[in-house]
Amino acid sequence: MLTERLILTGDETQDKPLIQQAAAIIRAGGLVAFPTETVYGLGADALDSAAVRRIFLAKGRPAWDPLIVHVAAPEDIHRYTHDHSILTAKLIQAFMPGPLTLVLPKRECISDVVTAGRDTVAIRIPQHPVARALIRYSGTPIAAPSANKFGRPSPTTADHVLQDLSGEIEAVLDGGATPMGVESTILDMTTEPPTLLRPGGVSREAIEAIVGEVRVLGRSFEEGESLPAPGLSARHYAPSARMLLCAPQPEVFYGALKDALSRYAFVGAMRPDGWRLPDSNRLRVFEWGAWGDWATLAQRLYLGLRALDGQGVHAIVCPLPPEEGLAGAIRDRLQRAASE
Ligand code: AMP
Ligand code: MG
Repeated sequence: MLTERLILTGDETQDKPLIQQAAAIIRAGGLVAFPTETVYGLGADALDSAAVRRIFLAKGRPAWDPLIVHVAAPEDIHRYTHDHSILTAKLIQAFMPGPLTLVLPKRECISDVVTAGRDTVAIRIPQHPVARALIRYSGTPIAAPSANKFGRPSPTTADHVLQDLSGEIEAVLDGGATPMGVESTILDMTTEPPTLLRPGGVSREAIEAIVGEVRVLGRSFEEGESLPAPGLSARHYAPSARMLLCAPQPEVFYGALKDALSRYAFVGAMRPDGWRLPDSNRLRVFEWGAWGDWATLAQRLYLGLRALDGQGVHAIVCPLPPEEGLAGAIRDRLQRAASE
């Protein structure tokens, strides 16, 4: 199959026929990758089990790892879930559309293939205008995990999508680089108190301001165990190179690079602006952004991991951000990428 790249301009009238073409593919049971404000998603009609099964095949994703359902409006959340709690309503009001996914009790019409047999569904309303238009024109909820091969860094550009999935999906809507660069926050509303399953664009602090204290899932899950959020399983979001995380100080970073160069033939550096580098022709550098500018560092995280991987480095040295806010989401993805 030839994967069509539908290049968008950002102009609504010009882009409309292309997004409608993509919507027609979704309605016909096909697969379309599309930009959201977090990362590129790989979409199929969430009410069509056969179409959803193709997502798992294309990604090489195990059937036990459930997908997020993307809808256009709050009414749709009520249409596909059973939840009438005040807390859920408040969260929808505060953060949707946006990078927050809620896990809620599902209704019958949502395919078991989407939820990996669970009686809950993960659902969100994306903010990206292309994602919103695609859902509206499709006239159906869209099940979409990140548009990468399972376990690889998520795609933040259409090029990344094509690197992983060219020939396996009908089309990619190319809307440029995604603005946030890390996946949505996932909050399980079926527990008391709610459980933060994955940190992301909406911070724990912002959520707690609305629902009170949340439980944070410890990292005690083993592969194969039934996971509340399989993105939490050991190695995930990972480049092929070995990830070497270091404390976020320029001199520690420098020392970690020296050490890596003594052990590996080619070494990559996720370099914060201005941090000193050892002199070596075996070093490959990704200029990441200013340390502390978490929005930029999140947006460029997967771009950097993929770029260094593409240069064939054996190890990537990267400073580890702190736990709070968006920095915490970057930290979480790096720790998973580094786990064996
Ligand atoms: P991705 O969009 O590729 O990041 O994958 C979606 C993630 O959503 C999965 O890794 C799961 O962790 C999570 N997820 C989807 N459905 C559920 C559910 N019913 N309960 C808990 N987590 C879910
Ligand atoms: Mg993913």
